[in-house]
Amino acid sequence: MRLLVTGGAGFIGSNYVRHAASGDYEGLRDAEIVVLDKLTYAGVKENLDPVADRVELVVGDICDAELVGELMQRVDQVVHFAAESHVDRSIDGAADFVMTNVVGTQTLLDAALRHGVDRFVHVSTDEVYGSIDEGSWTEDRPLEPNSPYSASKASSDLIARAYHRTHGLPVLITRCSNNYGPYQFPEKVIPLFVTNLMDGGTVPLYGDGLNVRDWLHVDDHCRGIELVRAGGRAGEVYNIGGGTELTNRELTERLLAASGKDWGSVVPVEDRKGHDRRYSVDIGKISAELGYAPQVEFDAGLADAIEWYRGNREWWERLKQR
Ligand code: NAD
Repeated sequence: MRLLVTGGAGFIGSNYVRHAASGDYEGLRDAEIVVLDKLTYAGVKENLDPVADRVELVVGDICDAELVGELMQRVDQVVHFAAESHVDRSIDGAADFVMTNVVGTQTLLDAALRHGVDRFVHVSTDEVYGSIDEGSWTEDRPLEPNSPYSASKASSDLIARAYHRTHGLPVLITRCSNNYGPYQFPEKVIPLFVTNLMDGGTVPLYGDGLNVRDWLHVDDHCRGIELVRAGGRAGEVYNIGGGTELTNRELTERLLAASGKDWGSVVPVEDRKGHDRRYSVDIGKISAELGYAPQVEFDAGLADAIEWYRGNREWWERLKQR
């Protein structure tokens, strides 16, 4: 089997590729893996170093129809991670988000349809649902995205669904909660706070700090994606989550404690525009159909991640200068 992984040099895509190419996913032990990644500011070639001899990296853009067509001809299945992924950047300027997340996804779907791929897994996000004060979203809830990032992801999610409904392309969609773990770009809250605190700096806390996120270890997200790729039903959406719900204040408290710092290191800053209050996904469907359950306990996973950032200063120091 030949598998195309887009965005495989980013945080989550590279985690999936490292596991797949190391034989951790039974269904991919003999797979040939091709990664298509543009190596934007968020793409790091070295993230694939541990499996570089088992993976082909093609540096290119998912919006490049000719290149995407050539690659699609050579593969049987696709797992599509490539995206502009940082909400704050989408508030500063949404053009790259629409181009990569919407047009890029449509370019991939078109080529997948032309070349008859057997599975197309589209990696979406729980942010497409909007914000929920109580309870959790099931997959049939309407999409009400609030940021340009989540709106561009909702658009690509719906275009992927439409390629199944209209053309019968075997598309599967996953919508996951917030991820943490090693190799996360240090603009995202956990690695940003951890590395700032490591250097004796301060950390910015948005608004009243009471926004709630469900934190899931990246290994659990990738395990969920692999379950969907291997056994999910075409045309279906699967939520992935079930991590630990924390307010940003609670998260900050834990990161301060792990770094031996106190609230003196925290600088309150004006709230993010349109900041969603709470995300929460219901994972009943993927659990019942595919036997998914998160395995990494939050405190242990966070301690491991912090240890990884401590041991890999040269990795994040360089990226913080980008
Ligand atoms: P990331 O920003 O770390 O990585 C994105 C990767 O895509 C990078 O390697 C980048 O070079 C590549 N890329 C960007 N534009 C490209 C283009 N035009 N052509 C080819 N490659 C391109 O993002 P991430 O956090 O690893 O997220 C991966 C996917 O998972 C995204 O689709 C994101 O929406 C989704 N997701 C993320 C989270 C999270 O908590 N980080 C949660 C749920 C879903």
